[in-house]
Amino acid sequence: MEGNLWKATWEKHGRSYELALVEHPSVRAHGRSLEEAVENLEDMVAERFGDAVPHLEFVRPLPTKHKGEHEAFLFVLAAHEPVTKITNVPKLFSHQCAACGQFVGPRTEDLIMLDEIPAGDLVFTDWLGHIISSKFSDLLHLGACPEIRLLPTMIGGRKTNDFLELASLHVRPFVGIKGNQPANRSKCKDCGFAVALYMPHEAPFLQYVNRRDLPIPRPDVFPVGSDHRMELAVSRRTRDQVICSKSIKNVVSQKIGILPHEKAIPLDQLFV
Ligand SMILES: [Zn+2]
Repeated sequence: MEGNLWKATWEKHGRSYELALVEHPSVRAHGRSLEEAVENLEDMVAERFGDAVPHLEFVRPLPTKHKGEHEAFLFVLAAHEPVTKITNVPKLFSHQCAACGQFVGPRTEDLIMLDEIPAGDLVFTDWLGHIISSKFSDLLHLGACPEIRLLPTMIGGRKTNDFLELASLHVRPFVGIKGNQPANRSKCKDCGFAVALYMPHEAPFLQYVNRRDLPIPRPDVFPVGSDHRMELAVSRRTRDQVICSKSIKNVVSQKIGILPHEKAIPLDQLFV
């Protein structure tokens, strides 16, 4: 069993670090640097539980290495597991791009159809962003968030509000860093669909948003990204509450960088 989610703690003692698994506190690793301690803990998880590629989620987030102007970030909540299968993807969009295979155009009125109950309180899909449990949605008070639309789903042929499709009503597009070409990028010439992800040697964060697009003041929860390709940005307090929760399953947190407007460019302009 590989790629499991393991909650972990970290502490700094003088110049060394001590890490431990929350559910198995005897699994404890040390290191002279954080990177070394993380590597040691990963090795121990592999040895003890046979998970060679563990996902460690630290209850208290690891410090971010600040680099010049790329120092600001948002926490977003993400799913650790994908949805098993959506059985009606082509019906959910007006058309499919013949060149790249991306489903494009506005979301149709059809509800998303799943073949089974999702294995977590948040699951990701290939084409439609995230599906959230009603329990988790209630915890985050998403019903009161005017920028988020919650759609019922069809599971096993029955319409249900137990799991809801998340969609954003307020576009805050992911952006690129001006003058910095990520190696991991693609843009379709036909439909214009563009993706850019920065690797750790290229930038401190995987994805970015423009500071000018963020709400002021920042609510506890708000969407970033666009329509169904959205992420749930949350305050540090909400992030900690979710990650520490014993009842919310298979949810992880990630950091998305915030760029000043002068450094941010639309993703499609990375390709000209
Ligand atoms: Zn395309």
